[in-house]
Amino acid sequence: MAYVVTDGCTKDFVCAAECATAAIAPQASDANAGAVSQVYINPDECIDCGNCANVCAQNAIFAEDDLPADKAHFVEKNRAYFQ
Ligand code: SF4
Repeated sequence: MAYVVTDGCTKDFVCAAECATAAIAPQASDANAGAVSQVYINPDECIDCGNCANVCAQNAIFAEDDLPADKAHFVEKNRAYFQ
């Protein structure tokens, strides 16, 4: 399981700075930071600590098992960013 960023993301990059495994991209300093509509979590790097969800002021990050049904497609959307 991994955490998943959804469309509530406003790209404040607080979560990306918080993640100990650098699983969240892009970082604020990355060249494409302005081009993406949200940040994404790499499910292969996420260790399920929950820190990102705790600091997200938008409540845009969910544990995969807690995703609302209408946001289930964000599992694949997050994974796809890293492929
Ligand atoms: S749950 Fe932890 S390891 Fe996974 S993306 Fe969030 S801060 Fe990073």
